[in-house]
Amino acid sequence: MSLPPGSARSWSRVRFWPRKPPRCKTGSGTIMPEPDVLCAPPATAAGPAPQWLSPTSIAEAVQMRADHAGSQFAAGMTALQLGWPEAPHGSRPETTVIDISRLDMGPAVMQQPGGWLRIAANAPLEQVRRDPLTARFDALRGLIDAIAATGVRGLATLGGNLCWGTGDAAVFCAAFETRLITAQGPVTREALPPDALLLAVDIRPAPGFIEKVGFRAAFSPARALLVGCEGNGHLRLAARLQGLPVAVATVTCAPSPSDIAAVADALCVGAAPDSEDAAILRALCAGQLGARVA
Ligand SMILES: Cc1cc2nc3c(=O)[nH]c(=O)nc-3n(C[C@H](O)[C@H](O)[C@H](O)COP(=O)(O)OP(=O)(O)OC[C@H]3O[C@@H](n4cnc5c(N)ncnc54)[C@H](O)[C@@H]3O)c2cc1C
Repeated sequence: MSLPPGSARSWSRVRFWPRKPPRCKTGSGTIMPEPDVLCAPPATAAGPAPQWLSPTSIAEAVQMRADHAGSQFAAGMTALQLGWPEAPHGSRPETTVIDISRLDMGPAVMQQPGGWLRIAANAPLEQVRRDPLTARFDALRGLIDAIAATGVRGLATLGGNLCWGTGDAAVFCAAFETRLITAQGPVTREALPPDALLLAVDIRPAPGFIEKVGFRAAFSPARALLVGCEGNGHLRLAARLQGLPVAVATVTCAPSPSDIAAVADALCVGAAPDSEDAAILRALCAGQLGARVA
């Protein structure tokens, strides 16, 4: 059995999980994700004092990254600054930062052959969300809508979200057909080298949905995120439970929003955080959706 084209509607929903996120002490007492979720600077031997570098070309940025061991690219800095130590006059980076926010990575959104969209890695998410080219890509707009608030999205980028490691876009890219374009060439999401400079993300628009279950806290990783994409007669479902690796399952059914809510709830309550994997997601899909699972 295969899924008839157009049987999946596009929708997105954010719900809140009644329990509190795991606490992690900070100087200001705010609720923060566990330290490994933060953008901790790469471990390096003590070296020269950190610098703030502003390359004017892609090639220069790549060269700077190679020349400065332990340096980090910075786009919107909304995730990066979470890992900077607090200081009396604001937090400061401990490593050399290479500011890529003003580099020319092309238009925020560009039409590509075959209906694909190319999104510049350093374009602010809010600009991508408002671009006329994404107007009919409800799932992408739903994803961006569910990331932080407008003020943060005015700085935050898709590149930063993907390279951060626990951003929501990784789940989206696992469900939808995507190609990552780096300064060194195209790569898959799984094969993105840690020191690569991401220039753009190509996404093939399709009907799909976003189901995000978050905590009501100032900043905490989502409890669960499920993203579905319809294509080639099946539904590709990607899920992540609170910062754990992304699991993917392929199902031959068009689940309703309440079916997906049941899968998300089962993920939230049932799966032991250290045993989350694709097998659990497949079992949940088979049980909750009654669907054939590949
Ligand atoms: C209040 C608040 C709420 C948030 N809510 C959410 C949320 O709901 N969902 C979510 O996913 N995130 C959330 N975030 C985290 C963050 O805002 C987003 O993930 C954002 O998209 C990161 O993008 P950035 O440009 O700010 O990345 P940065 O902070 O600049 O960088 C993040 C990481 O990516 C690397 N990097 C950045 N750009 C590139 C590139 N082009 N090539 C290679 N490496 C690169 C940096 O070196 C760094 O390691 C939130 C943050 C805050 C402060």
